[in-house]
Amino acid sequence: AKQLGRNTFQWYNRDLNKELGRQLTLRNELQKALTNKEFELYYQPQFDAQTLELTGVEALLRWKHPTLGMIAPSDFIPIAESSGQIIPLSEWVLETACGFAAQLLLRGYHQLLMAVNISSLQFQRSNFVDSVATLLQKYQLPAGSLELELTESILLSHADSAIEKLHQLKALGVHIAIDDFGTGFSSLSYLKHLPIQKIKIDRSFIRDVIRDRHDAAITKAIISMAHHLQITVIAEGVETKAQVAFLRKHHCNEFQGYYFAKPMPAAELELLLGSQQTE
Ligand code: C2E
Ligand code: CA
Ligand code: CA
Ligand code: CA
Repeated sequence: AKQLGRNTFQWYNRDLNKELGRQLTLRNELQKALTNKEFELYYQPQFDAQTLELTGVEALLRWKHPTLGMIAPSDFIPIAESSGQIIPLSEWVLETACGFAAQLLLRGYHQLLMAVNISSLQFQRSNFVDSVATLLQKYQLPAGSLELELTESILLSHADSAIEKLHQLKALGVHIAIDDFGTGFSSLSYLKHLPIQKIKIDRSFIRDVIRDRHDAAITKAIISMAHHLQITVIAEGVETKAQVAFLRKHHCNEFQGYYFAKPMPAAELELLLGSQQTE
């Protein structure tokens, strides 16, 4: 047993070294990636639960490394966060998303919301609200076309200044959505103090909503509580017809997920929008 233990430890060590090596590589590669334009935003459509009209898109970051291939955001965003590289990267994300939203607006897609994920470090910066206002101005984008997705943990750490920023963003007219809702162990009652328009029920609840009665109960409770507070609810990770039926029955407002559409490059989204136009 002792022998086995030592071996296991060695294996663990080797895996850990490999993992650390990979992290170091990615960190170095991240440095070059922005200047080499290896990043791209994909856009995943969001749909109205009743009309199935396309109501908005969520911008999702993609890193196409010339030799390592496509690297998932879950693999490099935590690294970029710990190294501080997330700051220039998230500036690029926000600017690219606003630029594209302005372009869509010029083409006549007036009701489309552009949702952008905001990282903790980005939101904590003292000039965050100003940088958003500057971008809206630069691209002549109405604030109501932009939605910022913030997680509960972002709001709970530095709570006082976070709430102040939310009020400043609200004054600008920017929408706020709480991302991955339900995973943050926070009390639901804090919602009533926050100027937010939308919550996104986390995929982990939607995944088993049909066969797990706890997930079903949580999902129903989130929707009903949000509606009492006049907050819109979107379900993420919707993959099946049964999930759609359940969510509709319980009055979820919007859907996002593979059942409807995967995240796609800008050009593909424009094709989809073009084909949806009925006028
Ligand atoms: P998220 O904000 O919760 O984004 C939703 C994730 O679920 C995306 O993964 C999306 O591709 C995936 N997804 C959407 N529909 C389905 C579905 O039906 N089934 C399944 N299994 N997955 C679905 P992605 O693009 O890999 O992004 C992962 C996470 O990385 C995001 O989670 C977000 O936290 C972060 N992220 C992505 N882009 C950005 C960004 O520009 N800035 C920041 N700060 N974070 C980002
Ligand atoms: Ca998100
Ligand atoms: Ca999410
Ligand atoms: Ca999620």
